[in-house]
Amino acid sequence: MEREIDLKDITDGKLYNSNDMVKAGCGDCEGCSDCCQGMGESILLDPNDIFRLTVNLECSFDELLQTCVELHVVDGIILPNLKMVGVSQRCAFLNEKGRCNIHTIRPGICRLFPLGRCYDDGDFQYFLQIYECRKEPKTKVKIKNWLDTPELKKYERFISDWHYFQKDVQRILRGIQNEVMVRKTNLYLLEQFFREPYDGAQDFYEQFYDRLDMAKKHVGIG
Ligand code: SF4
Ligand code: SF4
Repeated sequence: MEREIDLKDITDGKLYNSNDMVKAGCGDCEGCSDCCQGMGESILLDPNDIFRLTVNLECSFDELLQTCVELHVVDGIILPNLKMVGVSQRCAFLNEKGRCNIHTIRPGICRLFPLGRCYDDGDFQYFLQIYECRKEPKTKVKIKNWLDTPELKKYERFISDWHYFQKDVQRILRGIQNEVMVRKTNLYLLEQFFREPYDGAQDFYEQFYDRLDMAKKHVGIG
């Protein structure tokens, strides 16, 4: 979730790239699952997350919506997020031992935590949220290892492109007075990036950029 925050209040005051070392290592989260509970709507899912989940769990986006994912509006755009369930508001993928049932395909925000992303000038850098994970002692880890994400350069390009596309869409939607049009645009984007099944045998990024090109034309970007 995007927030307007003063980074110096919540970070160590530094910005990082994926080759940097950062003090985020938490001993494989042994005995802790704090950031998998009570997270509200904050674990947003992007098209890459939905590709990973639907392909590996062999299900549709609508089936995810029946169990572990929900929709909410973020600055005018309808986006999916991981659903917290039950009295203790746990992620639906958190098992009774306090471990993640989908560790190898966990969403990008789960891989990132307790790092965050600071977007600027068409790109982004990482920052370390120093109050979010309280497990001690912390060890230094290389960010690219922490993210545990294949084809990291492609992934980072995708993260930027998805972010700035959403910013453009938000700007366009703010200029539309007609509520029906706003809803139609949102339903189109939901279909285009999330409901329309991805092909697990094909490269995700090729599929995403085809869809992005179409969506930009549809909403009038570029
Ligand atoms: S709060 Fe820290 S130690 Fe606990 S599960 Fe999250 S990242 Fe792991
Ligand atoms: S998907 Fe896994 S890592 Fe992410 S919040 Fe759920 S249980 Fe935790």
